[in-house]
Amino acid sequence: MQVREIVKCSLCGREAVFYQAFTNKYLCRECFIEDVRKRIANEVKDKRMFSERDNLLLAISGGKDSFVLLDAVSHFHPSSKIIALSIVEGIPGYNRQEYIERIKKYTKERGIDTVITSIKEFVGYSLGEIVEKSREMGIELSPCTYCGSLRRRIINVYARELGADRTLTAHNLDDEVQTIFMNILRGDPERLLRQHPLSPKLSDKLVQRVKPLRKIYEYEAAFYAYLLGFKFQETECPYIIYQPTLRARIRHWLYMLEREAPGVELRILEFFDNLLLDRTNKLKELNSLPTCRICGEPTSIGRDVCKLCEMLEKAGIEPKYNYPKHMGKWRAKGEG
Ligand code: SF4
Ligand code: ZN
Ligand code: ZN
Repeated sequence: MQVREIVKCSLCGREAVFYQAFTNKYLCRECFIEDVRKRIANEVKDKRMFSERDNLLLAISGGKDSFVLLDAVSHFHPSSKIIALSIVEGIPGYNRQEYIERIKKYTKERGIDTVITSIKEFVGYSLGEIVEKSREMGIELSPCTYCGSLRRRIINVYARELGADRTLTAHNLDDEVQTIFMNILRGDPERLLRQHPLSPKLSDKLVQRVKPLRKIYEYEAAFYAYLLGFKFQETECPYIIYQPTLRARIRHWLYMLEREAPGVELRILEFFDNLLLDRTNKLKELNSLPTCRICGEPTSIGRDVCKLCEMLEKAGIEPKYNYPKHMGKWRAKGEG
């Protein structure tokens, strides 16, 4: 007869279900969930991401990380002060209605209101249609570039219209470290500084964006989502093959490093946080970002047309955006 050896939780002695390589600890279900929730709450506090008075807009994609964000934040922030926003990209064969229903179910279970919108509603074309148009124009841009730029814009515009104090995205530790290296390899110090969690807001039109999962490994987020029984969008986006190769390479390289030396990504992020802390003040000297002469939204230093308007124009699409009307909750700030 084969006897199964039970590995015990390093913290409480119950049966372990997870090996946390970077601390060399075995954790049971309860200790694992508590550990992830605690680390998220600590990071929020440590980086002064938001206080309990703040209205939060959570960007929920339907992926595992977004459900971890939803669940963890709902444990330490009042649900009346959270709205979940989900954006349907309109990717052929990808955005299925059942995922939207799941998002609605999970938010409702936590007493959180949900707003569903789409790229098509915002700009008149779905992502699939934009990609098709750009290909007709002979443009080689990755669909992910349109997708990321549009999603960022929609999240900010909705947050502003709703009167949110912060937008929360579900970027995890792996995403963050990849982005650090992307910004370094592209030689983009401004972006690198703006990635810092304590970097100041450079325009009144931007709602501060924070990333509570920035110290949670992707494999931890996946396990958390699994333990809580979240059914997330498992099919890969068909455009993933067009993802810029630099990120894919960095991702692979970091994965190998992490396997050799568990905790290395966490140390890189902490090193980056400390190294650039003083320099974030430099951003304040930049005062305010310039405004796009087409859409009136903030754009990067040195530009007079924002990247989104420029990309759409090149794809033969008029950059005209349908701004949402105020949607009921919050919005006490200022006019409108
Ligand atoms: Fe958007 Fe690219 Fe992600 Fe697909 S893979 S959802 S196009 S960012
Ligand atoms: Zn335990
Ligand atoms: Zn613009």
